[in-house]
Amino acid sequence: MIPNLDWLADAACAGMDSRAFFATGHHARAQVNAARRVCKTCPVQPHCRDWAIQTGEYWGVWGGMSQLELRRKRRRFTSSARTGTRAAA
Ligand code: SF4
Repeated sequence: MIPNLDWLADAACAGMDSRAFFATGHHARAQVNAARRVCKTCPVQPHCRDWAIQTGEYWGVWGGMSQLELRRKRRRFTSSARTGTRAAA
């Protein structure tokens, strides 16, 4: 099944250099914070966050969440899927 990614057309980061969302090097923290500021204005942030969690995106800032936050959410998501419980937001 082909996923519906129509929401990407409304993304605040549309047209931006995607490297802005994949922090590296000495300025990684500042880069993550700058990316998160863009996400904060994004009308499709929930779609982006859910997409990243469900598809296992482990690198970069997605839906305003850092890599570490995404990994934590992903663990909760997969754990709740296994047990049939609902993960807390
Ligand atoms: S939430 Fe952030 S990374 Fe996701 S589409 Fe919006 S601006 Fe881009």
